[in-house]
Amino acid sequence: MIFDRFRLDGQMALVTGGTRGIGLAIAEALGEAGAIVLIAGRSRNAAAADRLAKAGVEYDFIAVDLTKDDAADALVTETLSRTGRLDILVNNAGIAIHGDSGEFSDAVWREIMTVNVDAVFRACRAALAPMRRQGGGVILNIGSISGIVSNIPQNQVAYNTSKAAVHMMTKSLASEVAAENIRINAIAPGYIETDLSRGGIDNPDWFPTWRSMTPMGRVGQPEEVAGAALFLCSAAASYVTGEVLVIDGGYTTR
Ligand code: NDP
Repeated sequence: MIFDRFRLDGQMALVTGGTRGIGLAIAEALGEAGAIVLIAGRSRNAAAADRLAKAGVEYDFIAVDLTKDDAADALVTETLSRTGRLDILVNNAGIAIHGDSGEFSDAVWREIMTVNVDAVFRACRAALAPMRRQGGGVILNIGSISGIVSNIPQNQVAYNTSKAAVHMMTKSLASEVAAENIRINAIAPGYIETDLSRGGIDNPDWFPTWRSMTPMGRVGQPEEVAGAALFLCSAAASYVTGEVLVIDGGYTTR
């Protein structure tokens, strides 16, 4: 049965930023498909715990602050100490800070790069060793349409640069490890309604442009990303690697 190929029964999945927004929807989808899910973020979210429990998802929480240089390695180590294996890594945690480039301090640039790029690479690097030992694994990185086009009207040079790096990191690593039964893909969402995008959605100077730039005329919901995440993390995508799957209501058609 083709649907069986979407099942993840007994697989161990780590979702960074799994406490809210897109990461939580992905954690729920992977869990509903049978994975045991570890959600990582700086702080626990009672609403996330409630939602996953109601969905019947077996999950646990790991506290991590990915602005710290050693955090991603420690996160993978902690995951392995709790579960003994790591089948699926979803690098979803990310931050967005807007501003004109002239006003961007080194500290803000570095913070964005540390969370959005450095931590993603560090987590991939740390996960590859156990995946190799296990004979395979899957990594999914969350990029953005901002790694493909330069959004308007807001300026966000660091965020855009960081997401382009995630896309190229995905392709480079996928090529490097493909022969070892490890697949690495990315999803590039357009505007999705979460805490991260809330400021823009509520901003009357921004949102009309966001909507008019999106052929579907609306923002997406986290669940509209989660289905594709499940596909890419499952055996249904067994011949897909190095792909950056755009989910954007048509934004990048224009
Ligand atoms: P949210 O702000 O809703 O959630 C972010 C998640 O990341 C939270 O779980 C948060 O948990 C965690 N996180 C943030 N900073 C850190 C940190 N320093 N260390 C550890 N965890 C952290 O974001 P979204 O769900 O919207 O975004 C998820 C991903 O999707 C990001 O990579 C984002 O760039 C990308 N994306 C989002 C789009 C959108 O329109 N929403 C569009 C395109 C891409 P906590 O605060 O507890 O640490």
